[in-house]
Parts: sequence; C-alpha cells; structure tokens
Amino acid sequence: MAFIQYAVIGLGRFGSSLSQELTQLGHEVLGIDRDEEKVDEMSDKLTHTVVADATDEEVLRSLGVRNFDCAVVAIGDNIQASIMAAILLKELGVKTVVAKALTDQHAKVLEKIGVDRIIFPERDMGVRVAHQLVSPNLLDYIELSKNYTIAELVVSRRISGLTLKELDPRAKYGCSIVAINKTDDVIIAPTAEDVLHEKDVMVVIGTKEQIDTFESRAI
Ligand code: ATP
Ligand code: ATP
Ligand code: CA
Repeated sequence: MAFIQYAVIGLGRFGSSLSQELTQLGHEVLGIDRDEEKVDEMSDKLTHTVVADATDEEVLRSLGVRNFDCAVVAIGDNIQASIMAAILLKELGVKTVVAKALTDQHAKVLEKIGVDRIIFPERDMGVRVAHQLVSPNLLDYIELSKNYTIAELVVSRRISGLTLKELDPRAKYGCSIVAINKTDDVIIAPTAEDVLHEKDVMVVIGTKEQIDTFESRAI
C-alpha cells in the first residue's frame, strides 16, 4: 500500500472516524475543523490538526492543502460549506477530492464541480446493514458490477466438516469460492477436496441471486 497524505475537512463523527482509521493504516493525515473542540479531541490522534475555516481560500492555501494527495470533505449538514470547500480544493489542484453528500441534489452539485468520489455514509450503511440482517452469515460484500458480487460468508456448524465437493457450490448454485479464510491461514483458489470448518470465512463470487440462494439453502 502506498503512503498517502490525506487532508480531512470536518471532524464530525464521520470525519473523525475516517481520519483515525487512515492514521492507523499508516498514512499522514491533516484534520481540519473550524470547531476548536473537535480539533482538540483529535489533536493527539492525527498527524496534524488545525482549527480553520475550509471555505476560506487563503487559509487552505497557507495550509499547503494543494500538496496533499487526497482531500476528503466530511462536512455534511452545512451544504454550502461543503460545496465551497470542494470547489476550492479542486481549484487548488488537489489530485483526488472525495466528498460526503447528504442528498441527491447535494451530490449532483458535487459531481458538477468535479469531485472525484461522492459518498453517502448513512445511506450506504443502511443498505449494508439491511443485507447483513437479512443474511446472518453474510459479513460483507462488494458489488463488482451490476450483476456480479463478491461476498464473505461464515461457515455454519451445519456444514462444518464438508469438502467443497460435498457442498458442491459451483455445480448446484453457480457460486465459486475464491478463498477460504481460516483462523490461522488462507486457502486461495480452494479445490474440491478442501474442507470447510465452522467459523471459516468463504469468499464467494457469483450473481446476487446465486449467492442469496447458496446462503439461504446451503449454509
Ligand atoms: P457527522 O454526521 O459526520 O457527525 P455532523 O452532522 O455532526 O457530522 P456536520 O455539520 O456534517 O456535522 O459537520 C462535520 C464537521 O464539519 C463539524 O465538526 C463542523 O464543525 C465541521 N465544519 C463545518 N463547516 C466547516 C468549515 N467551513 N470549515 C471547517 N470545518 C467545518
Ligand atoms: P467444476 O467444473 O465446477 O470445477 P469439476 O467436475 O471440475 O467441476 P471438481 O473441480 O472436482 O469438479 O469439483 C467438484 C465440485 O466441487 C464442483 O462441481 C463444485 O461444485 C465444487 N467445487 C470445487 N471447488 C470449488 C470452488 N473453488 N468453489 C465452488 N465450488 C467448488
Ligand atoms: Ca450528520
């Protein structure tokens, strides 16, 4: 993983969690908020923190924000400030600008400004949690395309001890298991004789429907 310099603007719940995780992953993070209390809370957790108004061009310039690889606008509720900060970051020439959007309209404006990636944390989390509630064995998933998904499914006690040949996911459900994550190692590209154990995590690729059927009928 490349070492990246991030600027995170807005240290609310989303911005502070994001910036802490980036720091823990070993990256350099500058946290900016106009609220001194928020900045104090984060000052010993991030590489640099500063009390500043991100809608002020001179301030962003003097902080050298344009030298950062990526800037994240984590201001949500104040849509005007979010848009202004995003415009300034793009104008200053920050390579990648990511912004949190609250509504579709907000997202549309951010898109027009040229924001590289727009995220809807609450909406996305709602969707994710719904999937996890409906499928108790589902830990996480990525949509590869409109049709294909990669999902992490936990092996239940019911199928513990079976080989892939016995469970037969590809022939019966069209799902391929690309890896099995065990407590002490990972089997990449498992084959018919590999054995599943309770609590192993299967990384499965297939269509949403195939994975749903596999999850509800077989696991
Ligand atoms: P979250 O949902 O992430 O907890 P929030 O809803 O509590 O956020 P928001 O209004 O979305 O709060 O703003 C997040 C942070 O952004 C706040 O801490 C706020 O002080 C900061 N902020 C808002 N406007 C600016 C600005 N112009 N410059 C710098 N920071 C700002
Ligand atoms: P396939 O063409 O589906 O691989 P195959 O006749 O070559 O089938 P094997 O590779 O011996 O048979 O596997 C037997 C069965 O075990 C497969 O039909 C499949 O259902 C299951 N299987 C083996 N490996 C995997 C895997 N990585 N993911 C999902 N299912 C597998
Ligand atoms: Ca909020």
